[in-house]
Amino acid sequence: MALLGCIADDFTGATDLASTLVRGGMRTVQLIGAPGPDEPAPDVDAIVVALKSRTAPARQAVGESLAALAWLQAAGCRQMFSKYCSTFDSTDEGNIGPVADALIAALGCGFAVACPAFPANARTVYQGHLFVGHALLSESGMQDHPLTPMRDPNLLRVLSRQTDGTVGLVPFVTVARGAAVIRSALAMLKEQGRRYAIVDAVTDADLLAIGEAVDGQALVTGGSGVAMGLPENFRRAGLLGQEDAGALPDAPGAAAVLAGSCSRATLFQLGVARDQLPTLELDPMATPDPAALTAQALAWAENKLGDTPVVIAASAPPDRVAALQARLGRDAAGALVEETMAGIAAGLVARGVRRMVVAGGETSGAVVSRLGVKRLRIGAEIDPGVPWTYAEGGAAPLLLALKSGNFGGRDFFLQAFEQLV
Ligand code: ADP
Repeated sequence: MALLGCIADDFTGATDLASTLVRGGMRTVQLIGAPGPDEPAPDVDAIVVALKSRTAPARQAVGESLAALAWLQAAGCRQMFSKYCSTFDSTDEGNIGPVADALIAALGCGFAVACPAFPANARTVYQGHLFVGHALLSESGMQDHPLTPMRDPNLLRVLSRQTDGTVGLVPFVTVARGAAVIRSALAMLKEQGRRYAIVDAVTDADLLAIGEAVDGQALVTGGSGVAMGLPENFRRAGLLGQEDAGALPDAPGAAAVLAGSCSRATLFQLGVARDQLPTLELDPMATPDPAALTAQALAWAENKLGDTPVVIAASAPPDRVAALQARLGRDAAGALVEETMAGIAAGLVARGVRRMVVAGGETSGAVVSRLGVKRLRIGAEIDPGVPWTYAEGGAAPLLLALKSGNFGGRDFFLQAFEQLV
């Protein structure tokens, strides 16, 4: 029976949360999309359901979150976690407030903390105000986000506009006094009829204390930072085993990197890998046809597959991306490359690739969907936020590392495979 059930509003945030829980010693599986009602639960300590609900219409986000909650309850989870971005990405219509309201109502718990702080990524909360580095949220660049512009740094006000409940604060002076004092403050706010407590947190030590204070609460909401303190509650209760939570089954076979991200970090990583690994750069401008590009790539890879990873990249610098977009339109250009990368991934798996790094969020989405992967068992991190995972549901055993474009150090593509040896 799983202990902790998590509902995340996007895919990479879900992976980040899952990695945090594994680091804390909880065996964790990430589900891609809401599970069907009859889908069996995995035998792990924590389950993270990755939705794509951050900017969906509020009604849809609420519906999907409630369906996930019902499934997680049936899986035995005794505590729920609603995961959103550490910059509290939402509009006055939601979805952080409406989703949390619905979860609180369904759980009948009446109350939840809200703590997006993530000091390791320079997101801190003080006097209920969210800072990104030195800047208030509203002066951090987030005020210009295309989908969720954050123009008010005061989380009590931000959340109040998204709920018919009331919002209180557990200030830093209280948090600094430790878990027991935080717990009393939370109990008092609940008694006063508050539905939410924004909780200040400036350091990881604050998050660990908050984590301890919310032991036993039916619902916790926040970024992956506040989840740091949750595994210890289950360990203290004797509910976690001794084994390495990040151990994955082996998947012997050939290795490959597929890159569809054009982010700066990925272009850099490709530059480093190109000197050491066989690398194919696709030219979608010359061949704007997914089937033909896929056939080219698979023919190129045919006699190169083995322990040394092959690298196949559609990634291109901004001028080449702009040129393809000008010719095909932005969406069609993206779809062409995603379709191609998904086809290549399927072809490589059919040819014996069992260890694959995919660079790019959308690219990863296209690849897992084509491979039929529904669940990822989360392993050890290669770089912060990017773990190796064992993919379940596909045709063959497969180790996958799905990298959001801008994540990972310079030699990520080499380091990833060295870690598997
Ligand atoms: P990131 O995580 O860096 O945002 P994504 O995979 O989410 O990466 O997004 C990159 C997008 O760019 C994808 O839709 C991909 O299909 C597209 N793309 C990749 N290579 C090219 C290219 N050469 N020209 C145009 N678009 C491209």
